Amino acid sequence: MLTTLLDGAMGTELAQRGFELRAPLWGARAIEDAPALVVAIHRDHIAAGAQVLVTASFGLDAEHASLATTSVELARQAGPNLPVVGSVGPADPSRSTAERQEHYAALGRALSAGGATALFAETQTSLAGARLAVTSLRRFGLPVWVALACDADGKTLAGDPLDAPLEADAVFVGCTEHTGLLPALRSLAPHNSVLAVRPSLALTTVDGFDPAGASEADVVEAIERCRTQFELAYVGGCCGTTPAFTAALAQALRA
Ligand SMILES: [Zn+2]
Repeated sequence: MLTTLLDGAMGTELAQRGFELRAPLWGARAIEDAPALVVAIHRDHIAAGAQVLVTASFGLDAEHASLATTSVELARQAGPNLPVVGSVGPADPSRSTAERQEHYAALGRALSAGGATALFAETQTSLAGARLAVTSLRRFGLPVWVALACDADGKTLAGDPLDAPLEADAVFVGCTEHTGLLPALRSLAPHNSVLAVRPSLALTTVDGFDPAGASEADVVEAIERCRTQFELAYVGGCCGTTPAFTAALAQALRA
């Protein structure tokens, strides 16, 4: 199977380039406040070999959904001929089911309106949450991807085992340390046909980001190990990855 290369992290790269990540909206604030920087980061990933762009909309809520439409336009500006996948961050778990469905629906609607080619529910920490995101994003007639944030034992961060179908068009082990990729893929593979990985180089903490203690080379090697055992439709980098990481991964895919 041909593996398609996604671009890398947006939020941590914005911070790296001097953009202050702060509430509300964190990195997604850059869609309005630093659009040229968002376009520049997309362009650097394209130059490094990225074949698909993921929008800068992670972190938006229903109230700010119109910025999601703009985020698709910014990605399109950077790569007019590339697929643009609309990123949707997790709904606040303390909200009601109806409110969480509305979070996904509002963002899905805004990303579709901008011309996104697929919708991507990122950083889902439980299976129930992931399923709610996928079903809520289904109504727009676009492929729906989901990324599960996993621990080193191949379970979601909430502790759910992964031996279950997700009913998504691509299931990512995403925002996960590289050591968690293989155990998660082993559990997912018998139940989900389109698999992908998007590991992190930095871990999200209450204070921001902490380096996960792995080098870019370690993470590229871990992805390559996954590719020898599983057919992966997509690979890419989540938090902490840079255009240099995308370039290293592009080189590994060509080898
Ligand atoms: Zn991440």
